[in-house]
Amino acid sequence: MKRILPCGRNKCKKGKCSLETFYIHGWHRSKKWDFGHHLVPPMSSSITYRVDSAERAARGFHEFSEHGYSPTPIYIYDRLGEPLRDMLEENLAHIERGEICVTFSSGMAAIASCLLALVKSKEQILSHKVLYGCTHSLFTKWLPRLDISVKLIDMRDLNQIEDNLTKDTRVVYFETPSNPDLQLIDIEKISQIVHNKSNTTYVVIDNSFATPFCQRPLEFGADFVVHSLSKDIEGFGTDLGGAVITRKEFLKNLLLVRKDFGGVLSSRNAWHILVYGLSSLHLRLKHKLQSAMKVAKFLENHSKVEKVLYPGLNSFPQKKLAHKQMKTPTGEFAPGTLIYFILKGTIQDAKRFLDRIAKKAYSITLAVSLGQVKTLIESPVLMTHATLSKKEQEEMELDERGIRIAIGLEDPDDIIEDLNNALK
Ligand SMILES: *Cc1c(COP(=O)(O)O)cnc(C)c1O
Repeated sequence: MKRILPCGRNKCKKGKCSLETFYIHGWHRSKKWDFGHHLVPPMSSSITYRVDSAERAARGFHEFSEHGYSPTPIYIYDRLGEPLRDMLEENLAHIERGEICVTFSSGMAAIASCLLALVKSKEQILSHKVLYGCTHSLFTKWLPRLDISVKLIDMRDLNQIEDNLTKDTRVVYFETPSNPDLQLIDIEKISQIVHNKSNTTYVVIDNSFATPFCQRPLEFGADFVVHSLSKDIEGFGTDLGGAVITRKEFLKNLLLVRKDFGGVLSSRNAWHILVYGLSSLHLRLKHKLQSAMKVAKFLENHSKVEKVLYPGLNSFPQKKLAHKQMKTPTGEFAPGTLIYFILKGTIQDAKRFLDRIAKKAYSITLAVSLGQVKTLIESPVLMTHATLSKKEQEEMELDERGIRIAIGLEDPDDIIEDLNNALK
């Protein structure tokens, strides 16, 4: 796991280098583009491409609809393929340990497109019940209109998977760690259960919280990873993006869905994500992992805090599973950059705490989202998961005094001081 696969396409003499070095150098040489002499790839941007003959144009369209891409694609129109975006996709695929990647305009475009590529009407998606707010809305409001049913279960209980898999189940979907309360789902066990039962049911995992630096679900048998690139992978809070990473056999349909539904990643966003995001991912996350542990321990020992959930704490209920599946490419424990904690008292106390942060804190900002250089704090019940009904919030076991904090790059002692002041 420590070393990457032979690449043969860059200068690595032995055909090997560490994934961390790969984050920085990537595959900058390919038959697809000619950026070999740029230290930083150019921000290429062209909606349409001049073709040398009608015959070549026809071949381009034909190849695209037959195979997705050829190894030397004939570029025709941005929505089908664009060289800089292709470079980002090849690098992301490798970092997630998949064969191919297709990027999208946002995480939600990636999730929706992946599911549209896999599931037809009358088929079923089985999902863990705790979900990112918009994914929950997609599953309960929009997919049912296409006659795709979504059953929400508790996937921490493996029996519930066995009991609910039917011949119509096309996708088993979950986030691990889940948003917001960091429940973990066993990727390996669930992939085994699903694949033992059917080879046309696919395990799809939203890996946005962990990022490929902390967890690579395909290594544990999952079929698809979906990402919001807008979080830790982009890393600076400037550009939305999404990605699906999987095996070659699914490339064609993913590209066709992207072409026809149109949720294509802008090449400018691709450039930012590739040049600034990926190359600094490991450094940012190493710092955040250390800070998150320190902040989690501080919260755990604070008298105004009822409970802290952070996969790195000894008190974490699924500690063993965290150690099994949350690891850096070099095998160190990597329990992520988010902390969820429940305050003592009532929802009014939680509101007062957040208002205090909003007014007085310097290093912590009251805002949704995560994965940026700045530490962000929010109340899921009042903010990210506010559009859910009371009943849905209860099904997700969301506590109204729950707080989610997404650690940034500040000095952790400053984050702790701001928390301490607001807790007083
Ligand atoms: C942010 C997020 C998404 C959606 O991503 P966008 O890029 O905002 O569309 C999906 N899943 C998780 C876990 C997220 O945090």
